[in-house]
Amino acid sequence: MTDQLFKKATEYFFTKHDHQVTKDQHSTPETSNLPRIGILGGGQLGRMLLQAAANYPVTSYVLENDPECPAAHLCHHFTLGDIRDFDAVYQFGKGLDALTIEIESVNEAALEKLEAEGVRIYPKPAALKIIKNKIAQKQFYQQHEIPTSEFLITQNKAELNLQAGFLPAVHKLATGGFDGRGVQLLNTAEELPLGFDAPSVLEKMVQIHKEIAVIVAVSDQGDTALYPAIDMVFDNRLNVLEYQVAPALLPEKLLWKVEAIARKVVKDLNSPGIFAVELFIDPNNNVFVNETAPRVHNSGHHTIEANYSSQFDMLWRIMLGYPLGSTRHIMPAAIVNLLGETGFSGPAVYEGLNEALGTEHVFVHIYGKKETRPGRKMGHITILSNEKQELIHQANRIKHLVKVIS
Ligand code: ADP
Repeated sequence: MTDQLFKKATEYFFTKHDHQVTKDQHSTPETSNLPRIGILGGGQLGRMLLQAAANYPVTSYVLENDPECPAAHLCHHFTLGDIRDFDAVYQFGKGLDALTIEIESVNEAALEKLEAEGVRIYPKPAALKIIKNKIAQKQFYQQHEIPTSEFLITQNKAELNLQAGFLPAVHKLATGGFDGRGVQLLNTAEELPLGFDAPSVLEKMVQIHKEIAVIVAVSDQGDTALYPAIDMVFDNRLNVLEYQVAPALLPEKLLWKVEAIARKVVKDLNSPGIFAVELFIDPNNNVFVNETAPRVHNSGHHTIEANYSSQFDMLWRIMLGYPLGSTRHIMPAAIVNLLGETGFSGPAVYEGLNEALGTEHVFVHIYGKKETRPGRKMGHITILSNEKQELIHQANRIKHLVKVIS
């Protein structure tokens, strides 16, 4: 954090404990006996979790090192700190009833200690540990006979350079990659220099016919509920999500296969929480698990309007010990992500919202990030319609209509 940012933070917040900087005006009386639940990370997922939390008897806490992050102003207690730092996470979690994450890059050793001391963690640190490292994650699928693309492990570039015979393949950093960064397609031996000089997975390139996500909810008792599968349509040039549609239109038998695999992944991870299982389907209807996120996920934003219990609502039900909600969809939905336009950096300006909001069943979510940058996730728009063609038409229309510039 820059000195300037930190100074700004201290103007708005006062120090309560060594590691806790808490918002004064939203403090909950010490006598409150509501469950105390913390979120590690204060991005848009944290923000949407807090929007859902407002409906429940709970006191919310957020740990994040940016005092202007999307979730900072929606929680009861905001703590300034680094989610990757052992002490920051441990001090934050000590005394809370439960903790969840909105991003995987958190200090898992602190979570393990907190868990041993009785704090409930969603997902369990043991599950997080498997998922956080792409090598461990692939080995987990292999050990549990969960279909995933064939892979091998490379520790450095020298090891990668020996694998020309394994191409075309996809090279993925074991740790530190996010949102397509840390993923490199390697089609031919000439492209080997683009690979990573650090522990990575090299996996066979799947001929992707469809990319599907299945969000699964698991209660403390092990009850599970699946949301309808989501069809994620990618822009192959930019490797970013173009739009997504739910429920995905899949032949019934293929859908069963996808759902059975997603269930198996989550059962074997053996943890309560929300999980997003991402899968590839090839032209022969073979299904491969790509990766799993042990948290609320960007593929499930539409569940806010399109499903009876959203993924965010569901996680509070799980953490507060209430029955699982209904995952059924009310109406089919599409989501368009609002990414910062190329060529614009600075205070965000939103173009086209008026027209978008003038369309029936269109819902705007702006994440409250002050500054836009090319490709930064600034918000999303959900469209509901019973007609698949109308969904795709509106998704494309809104994609061209709404722009985030500066
Ligand atoms: P991230 O965790 O950064 O989102 P992913 O593992 O989901 O990375 O990979 C990003 C994208 O790269 C995927 O959505 C997919 O389009 C492509 N990709 C990843 N693995 C493969 C693969 N084995 N075969 C073909 N394409 C892949």
